[in-house]
Amino acid sequence: MISLGIEGTAHTVGVGVVQDIKNRCKVLSNVYKIYKPKKGGIHPREAANHHSQYIADLIVESVKKANIDFSSIDIISFSRGPGLGPCLRTTATAARALALSLDKPLIGVNHCVAHLEIGRGIIDSCKDPVLLYVSGANTQVIAFSEGKYRVFGETLDIGMGNCLDKFGRYIGLNFPAGPQIEKLAKNGQNYLKLPYSIKGMDISFSGLLTAAEQYVKNGEDIRDICYSIQETAFAALTEVTERAMAHTEKNEVLLGGGVVCNGRLREMVKTMAAERNSYFFAPPKDLSVDNGAMIAWLGLLMYRSGIRMNIEQSTIDQRFRTDMVDVSWRE
Ligand code: AMP
Ligand code: MG
Repeated sequence: MISLGIEGTAHTVGVGVVQDIKNRCKVLSNVYKIYKPKKGGIHPREAANHHSQYIADLIVESVKKANIDFSSIDIISFSRGPGLGPCLRTTATAARALALSLDKPLIGVNHCVAHLEIGRGIIDSCKDPVLLYVSGANTQVIAFSEGKYRVFGETLDIGMGNCLDKFGRYIGLNFPAGPQIEKLAKNGQNYLKLPYSIKGMDISFSGLLTAAEQYVKNGEDIRDICYSIQETAFAALTEVTERAMAHTEKNEVLLGGGVVCNGRLREMVKTMAAERNSYFFAPPKDLSVDNGAMIAWLGLLMYRSGIRMNIEQSTIDQRFRTDMVDVSWRE
């Protein structure tokens, strides 16, 4: 089976083509374009305009790169949410139009679940992981339990990436600030105390952001502040992930989302996994950030398990929760 997936929940519009070969995911192509605001945060309408400008070309490019014909596609998949309304509607409209014109089935999928399933799909030994999903808007620790992907911990306010981007904007860095903060942090030497807020299994980053901005006002070295943000926030993420692993008795941890490109975060989670005699998995970068291939793969899994959706049912949902999905494709 071959599935074409369209992603467009936030800043990235992407199209991927995947094929299942003996229940494993083979990525045939995965192309995307990222909207980068010249100033300020992501403006939903502008991001949607960006997506509509590129989506048709990306669809053609993905099929060409996959070396297939449109006629060999079996399913069209797209992200139903969670995400920004205008972006979701733009992507869904493209997916519906494509499905109707090719006369192929349409499957809308949950974006967060797709981040987890792509790891299981491409990494042979990754079977039942706890996912640490850290992106711009989302920060969740997810694991499968009793028929659903359940959220064991999450941010109570802003996402980790958003926290980094906001701090970056404050000190004059362009979006995305995460990679630049990582570079600055490498040269930080002094740890400055920041709020470490874990409430139960949930995390909060807004207090940390305010305190970090205060350090800037006080004239502390930017490199020390970046270092301290990373050490504090990533330790909190690792702690919640470890507790989810202990609670669910799972011995695999999988990373997903743009922030997991960060070497320091990877190192912390990897160390934690090794100390627990557990396995550490991280998909390659282009399958870890928002991408169409993961959407294509989840659509394929859902279709194969018997799920069908007509055009009327293919609505978007800005607040589509991870645990709202009935996971009929897993035991
Ligand atoms: P996503 O929403 O999953 O596409 O991820 C985008 C987010 O990842 C943005 O907030 C980026 O700042 C962040 N990001 C990307 N690379 C890094 C990095 N090396 N370190 C920290 N954050 C990063
Ligand atoms: Mg994402």
